[in-house]
Formats: sequence, C-alpha cells, structure tokens
Amino acid sequence: MPPMISQIFLKRGKAGPTIGRHPWLFSSAVERIEGKPSLGDEVAIYKAEDEVFLGYGLFNPMSQICARVYSWDESQRLDQSFWKRQLNRACDLRKNVLAFGPQESVRLIFSEADFLSGLTVDRFGDFLSVNFSSAALFTRKAEIIEVLKEMTAAKGMLIRCDRSVAKQEGLEHEDEVVGALPDAEFSILENGSQHLISLRSGQKTGFYLDQKLNRARVMELAKGRRVLDLFSYSGGFSLASARAGAERVWAVDSSEPAIDLARKSAKLNGFSQVDFFCEDVFDFMRAHQQDRFDLVIVDPPKLATSRKFKNNALRKYFRINEEALKLVAPGGCYFTFSCSGQISRDEFFSMLASAARRAKRDVQILDQVGASPDHPISTACPESAYLKGILARVL
Ligand code: SAH
Repeated sequence: MPPMISQIFLKRGKAGPTIGRHPWLFSSAVERIEGKPSLGDEVAIYKAEDEVFLGYGLFNPMSQICARVYSWDESQRLDQSFWKRQLNRACDLRKNVLAFGPQESVRLIFSEADFLSGLTVDRFGDFLSVNFSSAALFTRKAEIIEVLKEMTAAKGMLIRCDRSVAKQEGLEHEDEVVGALPDAEFSILENGSQHLISLRSGQKTGFYLDQKLNRARVMELAKGRRVLDLFSYSGGFSLASARAGAERVWAVDSSEPAIDLARKSAKLNGFSQVDFFCEDVFDFMRAHQQDRFDLVIVDPPKLATSRKFKNNALRKYFRINEEALKLVAPGGCYFTFSCSGQISRDEFFSMLASAARRAKRDVQILDQVGASPDHPISTACPESAYLKGILARVL
C-alpha cells in the first residue's frame, strides 16, 4: 500500500462501478476510511473484504461523490506528471485524430469522457473557457492552468465553477481571468457562419459546440423550408438554417441575453429571414397552435439534473415533444434532443414514441445522433453519452 495517503475501503457488493472504471465514487459505497483526508487529498481505494487495490482518486468530504477516481493503475499516482499526461491525451485526440486546426473552436477536454472527471475546457480561437464541476479537482487548478497554457498558447482563459453543481460539491468561486480576454462579444466560425460568443456572460462555456455536426445536418434539410428553432440559445441552429437558404426561421428562447446574441449574430451574417422571440417555448407553441413548420428543432436544456428528478424530466420532455410534433407540417422534418446524461437513449426513444401517439402523428425515425466527436463517450461512464438526438419525418 502506498504510504502517506488515506485509504478508502468499499463495502462488499459496492465496488462494481469502481472496478468498472466509473470515476464517481459515492459515499454510500464506503465502509471505512483510514486516515483523515481533506478536500482535494489523494486517496487510495480498496475493496474492504480482500483489500484489493481499485484506484486512486481525489477526496471531497462535502459531496455525495466522495471521491473522483482518475487512476486504476497502482503504479500511477496522481502527481503533476499524471495530470499533464491526461491533458495531453485529450488534446492529442482533437489535434491528431479529429484534425482540428489550431484556431478552430473545439472542446479540448470533456470531463469523464477524457478521464478528467470535473474539468471541461472549450477553445474558442485564442481563448479558453475552463469549467470546473469538481471541488476536489479544483484544488489542482494551478497545475492544470500551467499545462493548458503550455499546450494551447491561449491568450486568455476564463476559469469558472459550474453553478449547477456548486452546492452539491461545495464549489463556489468567482470567475477568474488568466491572461487577457476580449472585453466584448467575439465571433467564431462554424459551418460557414459567424456565431457571436460572450464568454463572461454566456451559458455554460459560452457556446454549445456539441451541436456542430447536427447543425451541419440541419443545413442539408433547411433549404427553402420554414424552420422553427425551439430553445435556440444564441441561434446555433437558426443561423445554420438561414445559411442553408431557409425561407424563414423562427428562433425562440426565454433568455434575453441569448436572443440578443442571436439577433446580433444574424445581423453580422447578413441574414434577414430570422425572427426572434424572447419567450417561453410553451407560450410560443400555444400562440402558434394553428401554424405549421417544415422543420422543427427542439433542443431543451438539461431537464434531468439528477437521478432523483429523472421521471419528472421525462414527463417534461414528453409534454414539450407532444406540442412540438403538432406544429410540424405533414411530411415535415423534426429534430429533437435531450442533453440529460441521466436519460438513456432507449428512454428518450420511448418518450418520443409516447409523444407521437398522444399528438396523433406518424413519426419515421431517419437517424439517431449524438454530440460531435470532440465530445467523446467513455464506455465506463454512460452519463457521458449525454446528448441524444432523433431526426424524423412527421406525417
Ligand atoms: N439549441 C441551442 C442550445 C440550447 S440550450 C444551440 O444550438 O446553441 C437551452 C436553451 O433553452 C437555453 O438557451 C435556455 O435559455 C432555453 N430555455 C430554457 N427553458 C426555456 C423555456 N421554458 N422556454 C424557452 N427557452 C428556454
């Protein structure tokens, strides 16, 4: 056993996820802890019954996820060289396998899917948006920033803590700027359109890069069509539709800053066929019950925030999809998404089937999609397959 670090022993029958290389160790699985680890301390994890080594993780006494596991190799401790190697591996995928150019916008690090649970990094040109969702990993911030600087030569980084998990994790920290960031909004190029990004006030990391390929897919379908983009945020799908020659686009989002950004982006690209609605999607759908659209895109926020709320979330997806399906013109296309890691592809499929039944529409599935490959999926962590999309024709 390695000296100096605390040891966590897992209850009989509770070691399965850790043996299966899932990075979240829940406190309910712990039989006993030897030592007095504090936040961010490295811990070694063992099965209680036979003291077989399982992995090394970082400890968080405040969270239900009492340790995030990063190494399953007894000879590989979580030292500085370890973080450097993990970050390098993630960047290598984008650069050498997926062939992203040095200026292209890309997700460089994707948490569990890059074996760095709790860290997400997006690159937008010269700038990085660095998002921590683990208080334990946050204690390694300085090392991580150093490596990111070396690897990317970024001019500036915005370091943020994920607000959605702040309470669960005991992770509250003001946004921090390293280097220099642009004062105002700036644009990135995606699928031939300029998309404005506001790093400081934008949602999540600033722009939803995960939908890049799905927006390209919409471009194949949108020409000459009347497109409804529900939950548009900064207009990702709307701009793609307009670029592809949509006849008219309706972008709906309840967030004023998001719609503002979308409006400015449309102007920047010279698109005049996009109309913006800053309102609740349900209100919009109610007010447009009699209207029909040739292509309807439904991309709601993460509705299932934890396992506990999963059934509630499925009911919400059902209600949204039932109403949205009714707005599709006969023979029109429908692209619906869920970005809830807690909801499986099968559950999403069943939800859509029920919504179609209730809306009294025949739905033909043409494709089932996920996030762009710079958002990989770890086989050990099903939650990393968070984005599920279904492309369909509606009769
Ligand atoms: N499709 C977008 C991403 C959508 S993110 C893209 O391609 O970039 C989800 C969006 O839903 C957020 O912008 C949020 O403001 C919006 N939203 C959440 N609840 C809403 C509601 N009830 N009505 C309208 N918009 C809502």
